[in-house]
Amino acid sequence: MIPRLFVGGPLTEGGAVPLTEGQAHYLRAVLRCDVGQALIVFDGKSGEFDARLGALTKRAAVAEVGTQRRPFQPSPDLWLVFAPIKKHRLDFVVEKAVELGAARLLPVITRRTDAPRLNSERLAAQIAEAAEQCERLDVPECGPARQLAALLAAWPPERTLYVCAEAGPARPFEAVLEGREPGPAAVLVGPEGGFTQEELEVLAAHPNCVCVGLGPRILRAETAAITALALWQAKCGDWRLPPPARG
Ligand code: SAH
Repeated sequence: MIPRLFVGGPLTEGGAVPLTEGQAHYLRAVLRCDVGQALIVFDGKSGEFDARLGALTKRAAVAEVGTQRRPFQPSPDLWLVFAPIKKHRLDFVVEKAVELGAARLLPVITRRTDAPRLNSERLAAQIAEAAEQCERLDVPECGPARQLAALLAAWPPERTLYVCAEAGPARPFEAVLEGREPGPAAVLVGPEGGFTQEELEVLAAHPNCVCVGLGPRILRAETAAITALALWQAKCGDWRLPPPARG
């Protein structure tokens, strides 16, 4: 398995990019690579390139960039808006959202969010690792946590926000997607304690929000996030494309 690394760009054929100390350690101590090791590198903007390990010391490494393997391809324009949940479950949601092609992650604070402090550095590292593993070419950003009211007040008018509503009037998500024009989208998932009745009323009244149901059972927030992202990708996203050609 050729190591696939997310590196700082921009990447150009014949160029060289420094790897991080963590990547140097991973290559040297974990994978026991030597100079000359084949690598795959991507920067989230320029596509994916063949590369080789040009230099490797205890704390530093350089990748010499070869030819481009795949041109840049952004993921479909789908955001995940989520109320932060317990740490290990949050790690899970973030990793699955990257694998499922979310283009952006937006944490939102709702009435019942017992918001753990979000460690943005840790989140960025988790996102990069998941992007390396699932072979996507873009790398989503995780925005800062925002209060629900502020998020809704500044919501972009061209983007539909599908609210996963565990209660109240909500149409089955799949049926809602059947009849929708393709366009910028987001899914919103509440915290372990769910949305308050007042929040659901505010959301239902918002011009960009559509309340959707995910079946008759109460799903855990992480299950709801994965289910909603998968449903949207299957109906509106890039699941109709073939998996990446494995060189
Ligand atoms: N504790 C709450 C449920 C919260 S589930 C209760 O017992 O009512 C966490 C989040 O997952 C919810 O806020 C909602 O966004 C989503 N969710 C769970 N089940 C769902 C369903 N059947 N339909 C739509 N969204 C659901």
